[in-house]
Formats: sequence, structure tokens, C-alpha cells
Amino acid sequence: MTRSLLKRLIVPVAAALLGGSPSLVRADDPSPRKPDYRRYTVAMHVHSLISPNGRVMLNAIAAQAKKDRIDVLIPTDHFLMRWEYGLSFLPGILKATVYRSCVLKFGPAHYLNLIRKIQKDVPEVLIIPGLEVAPTYDWLGHPFEGNLTLFGSQRHLLVLGLQKAEDYLRLPVRSNPHAGEFRWRHLVLPVLLVLAGLALMIRWPAGLLVVVAGSLLILNERPFRRLPEYFYNWENNGYRAAQHLIDTVDKQGGLTVWCHPEAPNWSEAVRLYRNIFTKTDPYPDCVLQTSDHTGFSYFWEGAKTIGITGGLWDRALLEHCAGRRDRPVWAFGELDWIEEKHLDVTLDSLVNVAWCTEKSTGAVMDALRSGRFYVYLSDKKTALTLARWELSAGRQTALSGETLDWTPDARLTIRIDSPRAGTPVHGEIIKNGVSWKTFDGELPLSVVLPLKDQPDAKDYYRFVVNGAGTLVGNPIFIRKNPQ
Ligand SMILES: [Zn+2]
Repeated sequence: MTRSLLKRLIVPVAAALLGGSPSLVRADDPSPRKPDYRRYTVAMHVHSLISPNGRVMLNAIAAQAKKDRIDVLIPTDHFLMRWEYGLSFLPGILKATVYRSCVLKFGPAHYLNLIRKIQKDVPEVLIIPGLEVAPTYDWLGHPFEGNLTLFGSQRHLLVLGLQKAEDYLRLPVRSNPHAGEFRWRHLVLPVLLVLAGLALMIRWPAGLLVVVAGSLLILNERPFRRLPEYFYNWENNGYRAAQHLIDTVDKQGGLTVWCHPEAPNWSEAVRLYRNIFTKTDPYPDCVLQTSDHTGFSYFWEGAKTIGITGGLWDRALLEHCAGRRDRPVWAFGELDWIEEKHLDVTLDSLVNVAWCTEKSTGAVMDALRSGRFYVYLSDKKTALTLARWELSAGRQTALSGETLDWTPDARLTIRIDSPRAGTPVHGEIIKNGVSWKTFDGELPLSVVLPLKDQPDAKDYYRFVVNGAGTLVGNPIFIRKNPQ
């Protein structure tokens, strides 16, 4: 399509009716398709005092969300802040443990009850429980060489929407004493040793030594549960531990989102204590190296190598379109909020805007699971609304996350509104990992693009709009018509 034709397709839309008090988005904007879909803003990745880095009580965070007119709040306190370093001999006994404030220490049942109580006090904001989880960590270096390094402890996944305390308790995470299989086989030999020692003691007092040895071996097995070996050696096992966690959460009905995968903060070793360091390299390849996760954090720390046009996100989506990846991957906005204005982050500065049938946990989880949402990084002055992002073919219309069969009249529509008419924006629509169309215009604007060519198999379209803040659209799919 030529640029002039594209310009003619950019239709200015009257903005006169879009006044009123500013909010992140307007719930009374025209619904994109079904009249029963409404927009809800979802703020996620928020830490309360339950996390060691938290600074604000959970009830105060919910009150802030209400003040900011956020519809859905997903607090994600750290699940487990526990690290153990064991010597190679009797590592279950000769070990140092650091155990800091976290959801497991607080008690999963307490955590869920606290959220339910706050939900009653602040009914205006739907609160969905979440966690921030590092599936595993590794130790590099050696204490005697002065370079012992806790490695990979900042590779985080958000786990969203689990409701049962039992599911929290058993989450497969290294150093969670409740996780893994009961190791009865490993107890057989130590127990036999103890029994043999007791029998020997009848005639030979030194049999006590055998009893002590057997008892030490039993103690060494505590907490008598162990996860698969790949949880104890990240370097040689890639993302297997993370995949294990993703699959477990998936079976329990929760969602998993890779957090801050490009964050450079920990790529240089940071001293924890004397000669003990911590280090986590950026891990953008998580998007490709794991499957069936719900998505990744585009903001923050996921836009440079993953979210960029032709980046790792596009590679994952292309894998999906080629039939090599079962589920698509969605872009999320997550705050990593610990208090208002810390690092310039406010609770309403970055939201996911989900199209839901109702404001309920089930409906919001369904929208996030299905990709029926977009990311909005607010500039605080201009309330941008993605009024339409849809693909029509024949009588069918698809929103993001959905798939249509191609027909000759297939067309893509994007419409962006704002109470601040005249705001200039620049947009890019990406098709199958390649920049397909760009457009510049003033808000409000609408772009309609015909899709004349039938896909070879399955195509996808996604967009990024910059100007007053940023909108990141999740992909819509169109496939070859089977008829
Ligand atoms: Zn994190």
C-alpha cells in the first residue's frame, strides 16, 4: 500500500464527546465487539510489606489502587526468599540457610486470607492473588576462593491467580521444604544402618558409632522431600526447573509471566556479605526456551531484544503460527512497584487493559490467558484508549488473541482515542515479525487496512503506538481459509 493511500485511510474521529475527568481508560468507550465486553485496567507486579523489599501494607496498596481508579490489582509478593548452601559432605546438615520475609514464611493461608479480607474492605478494586517466584538458583565459585556467588536468584516468573493455599505450599521451587517427592528410598539404607547398629550394640558397644552414622544420614535427608535434580544445577539444565514450575501452575489453573527478562541490574556481581556475591544475567531467551507460559514483561525490561520488531517475541509467535509452539506468548505490563514514585513508578503508570465480560477473577484471568488485553504505559497527561483493535473477515470479528479464517474482505482496524485531541502519535503494525505499516497522525485516529492476500498458513498482526505514552497490542491471528 502506498503512503498516500494509507493517509486517506487514517480517519480523524470526532473527539468532542470524550471530555470529562481523566482516568486511565474509559469503561464507557464503545466496546470493540460484543456489547458485553468492557475494559478493565489491571495493575500487576506489586510488592507489599510481606516481601523483604516491600514498604507499604497491602491494604494501603489496595486503597491507592482505588484512588487511582484501577479496576484490578494483582499483588505479587516474593514466594520464597530462602537460600541454602551445603558443603559437599552431609550437605543437608552442614549448611548455611538464609530465610527472609516472603509468602511461604508469612503462610500461604494467611496471605490468601489477608487478600480476602482486604477485598471486603475495598470492593471497588478486584484483587487477584499473585506471587513473584524464582524457580531455582545455583551456587558458583567456592567459599574458600572468596568468590561464592548466588547465581540466577533474580530470574523471576509471576504466578497469577492461584487460589488454594495447598497449591502455594507445594510450589516446585528450590529450597521450598514442602515441594518435591518424599524420598523414602533414600531413607532405607540409613534406617537399616541404625537398626544394624542397635543389633551390634547388644554385644559390641562400638555399634553406637553405626547408629550415629545412620542417624546422621537420616538427618541429612531432611526435609525428606526433594525436587528433580535439574532444580539443583541451573547451568546444565537450562530452563527445565522453570518449565516444571510453569507446567505445575498451568495444571492448577494459574498463569505464568516472565518478569524483567532483560534487566541488567544484576549482571554485575553484587556483594551480599563479605566474600559472598549475587549475580543474575539477563535471560531474554526464557521466552523461547520455555513453552506454555502466558507471556513476558514487555514493560519493564522486555522491550529491547524480546519486544522489538523481529525480536524473540516475534520468533515465538512465528513458531506458533508454524505449528511448532502450541500456545502464543502475550506481552504484559508489570510495575515492580514497592511504593508510590519509587524509581518514578506509580501504581497507575503501567496497566494491562483487558476486555472482560465482567469484573470477576474468572473473567479477568480468562482475558489475560487468552491475550485479550493490551499494555498501556501512561504518560500521566493523556489518557489514551485503544478503542478498537480488531480483525474482521466476513461476518466475523476477532480481538487480540483470537483467530479468524481469511476472506477477501478481511481488514484490520485500529482506533485510538484520547480526551486530548490533537496529540500526535506514531504507530507501527508488525506482521509476522516484520514492520508492515507505519502511520503518523493526531488523536483521535482510526486506521483501516485491507488484508488482500490470503495467508499461506497463519499470519499474525500486532502493533506498538508511541506518542502520549505507549500502547502495545497483543497479536490477532488470521489463517488460510480451509474452504
Ligand atoms: Zn523480580
